[in-house]
Order: sequence, then structure tokens, then C-alpha cells
Amino acid sequence: SWKAALQPYIDHPERFLPSPKNNAQSVVVYFNNEVVIVTDGFPKATEHLLVLPRSSALTHLHPTTALTEQVKKRYQQYIDIAVEHVTKKFMKKYKVRDESSPDHFAKTFVQVGIHTVPSMNNLHIHVITKDFNSPRLKNKKHYNSFNTDFFVPWDRLPLEHAPIDSKSIEKKYLKDSDLICCYCDRNFTNKCANLKRHLAEEFALHFTAV
Ligand code: 5GP
Ligand code: ZN
Repeated sequence: SWKAALQPYIDHPERFLPSPKNNAQSVVVYFNNEVVIVTDGFPKATEHLLVLPRSSALTHLHPTTALTEQVKKRYQQYIDIAVEHVTKKFMKKYKVRDESSPDHFAKTFVQVGIHTVPSMNNLHIHVITKDFNSPRLKNKKHYNSFNTDFFVPWDRLPLEHAPIDSKSIEKKYLKDSDLICCYCDRNFTNKCANLKRHLAEEFALHFTAV
């Protein structure tokens, strides 16, 4: 099923390395025995990576509870690699108007964490720039999954227990929560097209193409 679509990266990361012959929509940017870091196939912001632990003991656990202090300690180095990759890639394309350093950018503009109710089966951690200025961001659900408490930041993990009623959590955050601009807190209620236009304006205010 499509829910297992991340498994091939874990099984055969070498098949997804960037190369002239590989015209897949997604590429592996780093891997070793413990982890695969892949670009999201449907990026919801300018830069969007998924960090995939390869361990079969971890990959089918729930993200809210799998990332214990001990596991996080082991994977912190790979989160750091992904954050650095995202920062470098973004800064190659765009200049930050407030002239912030890469360190400042990484701390304030790169979001790391998981979805309370994931759609994909394999454990994955999102590392994403907070612009949400992407043609692949198409609806309220996409936006709210990163901009409400549906998104659990890395620093707040693990939770005490996995969600008990996934359907009501999805309704509360993805469907019933208003669309709030992540730069200025302006409320766009249900108007996703208006929010997207506004996010493009915010992007142009904060960044210039290199
Ligand atoms: P979730 O909602 O489960 O936390 O996020 C799953 C992520 O996987 C989404 O951001 C989605 O765009 C991404 N995704 C879905 N299918 C594929 C795929 O086949 N390849 C890659 N690289 N990403 C995928
Ligand atoms: Zn705004």
C-alpha cells in the first residue's frame, strides 16, 4: 500500500542517490547503517527532509512514543546533519533579508518533529523550513499538520502515550483549526488560497533569490 512507500529508501538507499540517471522525484541525501535521510516526495516548504531510522525494531513504532530520550540521543547527530543540509540548501538559493547567520536561521527557521497521527507506516522525523511556500502544499490539512499542536517538536518528544482517538485529533487540528499565518499570526480561517498568496508575500518580504 502507499503507506509503505518509505520502506524502499530504508531497504535500498543506494538506489536513490542523486545521479544523472536517477530522475525519481525524491533522493537520498545521506545514509549509513542506522539512518536514511531523504527529500520529501511532496515537499510542503522550500526544503523538506525525512529522517528514517533503519532499525526494524524502531521503524514500525509510533512516533509519539518511539523517540525516547535514549533513542533521541542516538539520532540527534542525524537530525543535526539534516538541519545543516536544509540550511545550506536554502541559503544557496535565498538570501535572508535580516542577514541572520546560518546558526540563527537553523534555530529559528528549521522545524523538526513528527505528526501526532502519521500517514506513512515507517517512523520518520520531518526536518522542514518554516516558509510553507510550496506548490505541493495544497490544502488546509497539509498546512495545519505543521502549524498546530498536531505537529510535535523534537524537543517535546516523547509523549506519555500514543493518541487514543486519532480521528478526533485529526478533526480538531487538521479540519477544525483556523489557518494562521506562521509569520504574523493573521487568521485566514478556511481560506487556503488566500493564505497561500499571503505566504508567498511573506516569503518575498523575508528572502531574496541569490
Ligand atoms: P506523515 O504525515 O506520515 O508524517 O508524513 C509522510 C510524509 O511522506 C509526507 O510529508 C509525504 O509528502 C511524504 N511521502 C509520501 N509518499 C512518499 C514517497 O513515496 N517518497 C517520499 N520521499 N516521500 C513521500
Ligand atoms: Zn503573515
